[in-house]
Amino acid sequence: MWDLSRAPEPRVREVLRKKRRMAVYIQRHVARRLHYDFRLELGGVLKSWGVPKGPSLDPREKRLAVQTEDHPLEYGEFEGVIPEKQYGAGEVLLWDRGTWIPEDRDPEAALRKGRLYFRLEGEKLHGSWTLTRMRDKQWLLINRRDEDARSGDEAEITLKAPQSGKRPPPPAARAPESELPRFIDPQLATQ
Ligand code: MN
Repeated sequence: MWDLSRAPEPRVREVLRKKRRMAVYIQRHVARRLHYDFRLELGGVLKSWGVPKGPSLDPREKRLAVQTEDHPLEYGEFEGVIPEKQYGAGEVLLWDRGTWIPEDRDPEAALRKGRLYFRLEGEKLHGSWTLTRMRDKQWLLINRRDEDARSGDEAEITLKAPQSGKRPPPPAARAPESELPRFIDPQLATQ
């Protein structure tokens, strides 16, 4: 991975820091049991965990995260229905997406060792988090205490913000052209 401390000058360091930003996707998956698929881009794939209760903003809530197989990067954007009889049959909603920034110098090594520190910059989840392995494929997803942490009902972000993280197009883009007020430049009305 990138060794920031050895970079010769601030501009180069900034470029390297930007390169450390990778994609994060969280899909709400109504399969046999509801769970949230937590996916971090790393080494060209999506490292994946199934989180039955979903993430909590309360640092005291340690959420079980069961590691599942790596997924291709393109799968992160998937939202829709997996047909019956196929693996994972059910409805998938892209609940959150954004970028994550590892706080370990070598996140792949950190993952192998079973403890990964990172920051999330999603639409719903922010701030510092930890994934820590208990045994085998069982990990815990924990929100570390910082300004984004909450407690009680406020922490249950999946209930507070259940909607898709895929942004719908702005209303103007969906309205038939005839309904648009005349004074709006047509350029503004198209996506
Ligand atoms: Mn799933």
